[in-house]
Amino acid sequence: MGTSRNYTELSYVWESWRTRVSRKIRPFYLQYMSLINKHARLNNYTDAGDLMRKKYETDTFEQDMLALYEELDPLYRLVHAYVRKKLRQVYGDQVIPPRGPLPACVLGDMWGRFWTNLYPELVPYPEQPDIDVTQTMQDGGYNVTHMFKLGEEFFTSMGLKPLPETFWNLSMLERPEGRSVQCHATAWDFYDSKDFRIRMCSEVNFENLETVHHELGHIQYFMQYAHLPLTYRDGANDGFHEAIGELMSMSMSTPKHLAEIGLLQEVPESKELSINFLMRTALKSVTTLPFHLVNDLWRWRLFRGEYDTDEANEEFWKLKEQYLGVVAPVSRTKDDLDAVSIFHIATGYDMIRYFTRTVLQFQFFETLCRAANHQGPLHTCDFYGSKEAGDLLARMLSLGSSQPWQDVLQVMTGERRMTARPLLDYFRPLKEWLEEDNARGGDGVGWGDSWKQTPGTSRAPRAATPFSLWAIPLMALMWRP
Ligand code: ASP
Ligand code: ZN
Repeated sequence: MGTSRNYTELSYVWESWRTRVSRKIRPFYLQYMSLINKHARLNNYTDAGDLMRKKYETDTFEQDMLALYEELDPLYRLVHAYVRKKLRQVYGDQVIPPRGPLPACVLGDMWGRFWTNLYPELVPYPEQPDIDVTQTMQDGGYNVTHMFKLGEEFFTSMGLKPLPETFWNLSMLERPEGRSVQCHATAWDFYDSKDFRIRMCSEVNFENLETVHHELGHIQYFMQYAHLPLTYRDGANDGFHEAIGELMSMSMSTPKHLAEIGLLQEVPESKELSINFLMRTALKSVTTLPFHLVNDLWRWRLFRGEYDTDEANEEFWKLKEQYLGVVAPVSRTKDDLDAVSIFHIATGYDMIRYFTRTVLQFQFFETLCRAANHQGPLHTCDFYGSKEAGDLLARMLSLGSSQPWQDVLQVMTGERRMTARPLLDYFRPLKEWLEEDNARGGDGVGWGDSWKQTPGTSRAPRAATPFSLWAIPLMALMWRP
């Protein structure tokens, strides 16, 4: 799903996975749903979704998340429009109509969760040095241990805790031979204050190097709150836990830092390279926002009984189209339950944690950059080696869940709420670039009824031709080969 650009192959694999995985899980998932609902009601929650949301200890969590997303949606739509324009050049207007949604199988992984694998097609300035340094890692003889050592060193450079000896002996960092394992990367706290492990089938590439930092973020949190009573050995909320590694990754993957650790040749700071970098970063943060939101919005509604189980899959795709501008590439039936085709939903983890983390990680990033005395645009900040930033982070992590997350957030950032502002500040240069790009030769933003011409467009965009009058009803057919 990451490297093929053959639409027939992609839609075939996309469909097969769902026929063989989620369609089979469907009856079990529905049974599981009634059990977790029963469990929640026995504990005085209205349903299992209520229980999931109450972990955030606010009464208006669902509305708050929707309101937060409204602030982020315009940025998502700009990225979506750019991705559509570029993918149209790869697949053609038949597959990707200029004002339509995107088929779910062309987004770079099995679920359209992380779009980073599309970066080679999307790179705004291809003549700039490649900031996906996979090739350099492989040419330089990197192995999995190097990747974890590099990750560990990022944390210790800030005065944070090193990994214990047992981590290296007891973790599973590579796919073992001769037995089948769960390969979705996870980090484990054994709650004895000394044994912390990662299970991951790491491969030597840049995306995995970022995932290594992600999982090490969990491990650092485990170690920082290991002194607390068991009840408090948890993140301030789940979004905090998911944010830490991403935060490190954001700093580690800056061109400046990559040059410092020898993964990139000396690079002059240029506007073009910044735009490339912001684009790649957006593909693993901005574009995941509606993805993660919808996965839980759908579950909350399902658990509340808003959908008939036979309509549940159709309702899932309605949400996907509405929020993400993404549609199923092949027709679906009531026997499908596509949402459970991903690890987190099949295994009962909420996904709103990745939505809240994306917002939080930029709040944390801004704060740590200030502590590290960073000058210049936010996206160029690298707090590697800053003991001030490390101390501040350690102070937050070592509180675990012993205080309400709003208090912990305040200790760290001075704010008590999750706010989109730092994320929007960080991406401002990309937003401006995307607006100009769209006004110059883009297709407008949005899809279907929500399509809009970009402000500042001097000429009618390509799609504003009589084509659009008949394209709308036809479009529905084009994604069903
Ligand atoms: N376990 C992490 C997650 O699900 C890291 C990853 O898979 O990329 O986000
Ligand atoms: Zn995680």
